[in-house]
Amino acid sequence: MVTVADMDTEQTLEPTLERPLGGNVLPLCTWPDPVLGGECTTVEAVTEDIMALARDMATTMYASQGIGLAAPQIGHSIRMIVVDVSGPDKREQLITLVNPVIEQAQGCIDSEEGCLSLPQFRATVERAEIVRVRGQDLQGNEVCIEADGLLAVCLQHEIDHLQGTLLIDKVGRLKRGMYERKIAKRAKRP
Ligand SMILES: [Zn+2]
Repeated sequence: MVTVADMDTEQTLEPTLERPLGGNVLPLCTWPDPVLGGECTTVEAVTEDIMALARDMATTMYASQGIGLAAPQIGHSIRMIVVDVSGPDKREQLITLVNPVIEQAQGCIDSEEGCLSLPQFRATVERAEIVRVRGQDLQGNEVCIEADGLLAVCLQHEIDHLQGTLLIDKVGRLKRGMYERKIAKRAKRP
């Protein structure tokens, strides 16, 4: 069982927050924001704007104690993700992928996950154990990543976001209904 959360529920923005990348912390979109449910478009070229957005995504992910973030989670419906499974405490393995696709998947594991766009929701879902992901880096180079363990799970979770698929779409009706009621109740609060 792998425990992962792209992640977690409570967002802690410490005042001492480092911003090693110089990006901004952007507000996170949470379910049921429609931007989370759509199919993202291909990034045609890595422009200055895309590079700035990638920086902001990494900074937002770190500030939110996450180990992964997909562009739609900050309101941009484009195929770009950031992951750093050394996090949330360390910031040593940042991977930014443009137009990532899962080329090959093998094996099956149970993975307990959370999502920054689903506050206070956790679910155990099935994931492939090993994946090969292809995409581009911010220099426009082709990148191929063979991953297992936490990185494999995290990549699958983030790439799901680009298809508009959230954890909540992978659980049973009962668990989904409970969360819907929780969010509805919370929205009614003054
Ligand atoms: Zn997520």
